[in-house]
Amino acid sequence: MSKYNEDNSKTLCKNILNKIKELTDEKINIMEVCGTHTVAIFRSGLRELLPKNINLISGPGCPVCVTPTSEIDHIIALARMKNTIIVTFGDMINVPGTNSSLKIEKAKGANIQIIYSPIQCLEIAVKNPNQNVVLIGIGFETTTPLLASVVLEAAKDSVPNFYFFSLAKLMPPIMRELLQKKDAKLDGFLCPGHVSAIIGTEPYQFIPSEYHIPCVIAGFEPEDILIAIYHIVLQKRNKVACVENGYKRVVRKEGNPTALEKMSEVFTHTNSSWRGIGIVAKSGLDLKEKYRKMNARNFEVDIEKTQENHDCRCGDVLKGVITPLQCPLFRKVCTPENPIGACMVSSEGSCAAFYKYSTESLVKNI
Ligand code: SF4
Repeated sequence: MSKYNEDNSKTLCKNILNKIKELTDEKINIMEVCGTHTVAIFRSGLRELLPKNINLISGPGCPVCVTPTSEIDHIIALARMKNTIIVTFGDMINVPGTNSSLKIEKAKGANIQIIYSPIQCLEIAVKNPNQNVVLIGIGFETTTPLLASVVLEAAKDSVPNFYFFSLAKLMPPIMRELLQKKDAKLDGFLCPGHVSAIIGTEPYQFIPSEYHIPCVIAGFEPEDILIAIYHIVLQKRNKVACVENGYKRVVRKEGNPTALEKMSEVFTHTNSSWRGIGIVAKSGLDLKEKYRKMNARNFEVDIEKTQENHDCRCGDVLKGVITPLQCPLFRKVCTPENPIGACMVSSEGSCAAFYKYSTESLVKNI
């Protein structure tokens, strides 16, 4: 960003902050459900700049964080199969299962390869025809169309040793679950920009109509986030609730029809398990019957009996009941080098963000 643009952005942010302050001094809890928003909020220091009555809560917006221990144990069992390569994004290898992790299995000799784009998995499968190559398909609606493309490519090119283990999850059903369960009092949702670019604005309409909660879709610059917060607070003050699109340069009402078509070609909605939250109806995606041969869930493997670490409070963090600072293990036992739960592993996890940015501000204040 040029100096001119940076100065303009700072002035704009100051003006919006003043306008938010003028609107109300009522306490307002706003949840963001996107890991990229979480990081952008911390990096720009918005939590400290906002008036005290505006409380930002980080929700279940990081796909690695919401993957439960039982699924990690299942992937570890797959990694222990003979003639198998597990292909995954980097963060996953550090997530602890009950007694192991992909990192530990790799150290013991399992073939685990890290990719940056899911399409690399097909190259690995073609180069290793005698190995089962299992892609760990993790992500929300932002990533799912890409995963669907890989499955379609594998089907088109008949890659017989390509397998897919779906951990794909959907955002609107978990938002409904949070509102139904009422573990945390929520007054507004900062809706995810990237997910909304795929699904559009309509899937959030149930939130204002059934729960009377404002929803504003936001981009990722500090001023985008502040404008969205301003509109949530304005809706609250005016006692109205609707879905507003604060990211029109990217998000259209209908979303991305091509991406949605690809998703529905490949995936079917399933009940899905979320870390610390449990099974949420129709909140996940798995391969449709016609891609059954590729489904890595069909491998018969010995999955360790899952035991949760009850000292880890990831579930409460993801539901917005506590902040990571209220977890007794935070920074004392649980750190990015020694993560006890998934929320400390992913750079987009709440615990990792609190650790990095609260530590940085501590250092700055010395
Ligand atoms: Fe779990 Fe660590 Fe976060 Fe505590 S700080 S909730 S132990 S990940």
